[in-house]
Amino acid sequence: MRGRTAVSNAGSKILEIDRRLVEMYGPKPWSPRYNPLDEFVYTILSQNTTDVNSLRAFERLRQKFPRWDDLIDAPLPEIEEPISVGGLSEVKAVWIRDALKRIKEEHGKLSLDFICTMDLQEAWDYLISFKGVGAKTAAIVLLFSCGRPAFPVDTHVYRVSWRLGLVEQKGGPERAHRLLQEMIPTELYYQMHINTVLHGRQTCRARNPLCSKCLLRDLCWYYLEVLHGEAGSRY
Ligand code: SF4
Repeated sequence: MRGRTAVSNAGSKILEIDRRLVEMYGPKPWSPRYNPLDEFVYTILSQNTTDVNSLRAFERLRQKFPRWDDLIDAPLPEIEEPISVGGLSEVKAVWIRDALKRIKEEHGKLSLDFICTMDLQEAWDYLISFKGVGAKTAAIVLLFSCGRPAFPVDTHVYRVSWRLGLVEQKGGPERAHRLLQEMIPTELYYQMHINTVLHGRQTCRARNPLCSKCLLRDLCWYYLEVLHGEAGSRY
């Protein structure tokens, strides 16, 4: 059961994890990557593919449609072609075209800038009301383009978090998202997200994690308990 002591212990563990991640990967002050609408499109394109391919898909789509207005009435094959490099292009093309159409119909112009100032819960509900947009996408758009307090849990954040014993593996990413949002101070959301993703890619890899190079070993449930049979702290 998660009582007060557990939360408070988790809180100090989080601060120490953040400190050591900064030692490994450097501080990450927030700065917007794209405007909210571009981030929204980019994040849909990034599903089930690599960063390299999602960036290529986004840039190729932008080249073909320098104005999003032109995409709304384009035939689907013309939208699918530039994004095919990222996979699932038939599905993503429909999600993007339908979302842009709806945003324009509802707000009179193609912009999501309003999500940066509207009530946070309303912005969240609005974003996840689109097909193809779940908790991860909504949190990325709010955090990356607006600097608002939402903590995205992707495959790397999820794996590193359960290995460190911060969340249960069986709870899945959606539950991890809720728990991590409670545990992590909001001012650390951006830095911890970026550094945890880097850690998952470079060190705490899905296969063969490089534990011997990791500064988090003495805090890591997976390293202590699963790999070495010692008692490690969880949750
Ligand atoms: S000690 Fe190993 S399993 Fe634990 S966080 Fe570091 S790399 Fe991942």
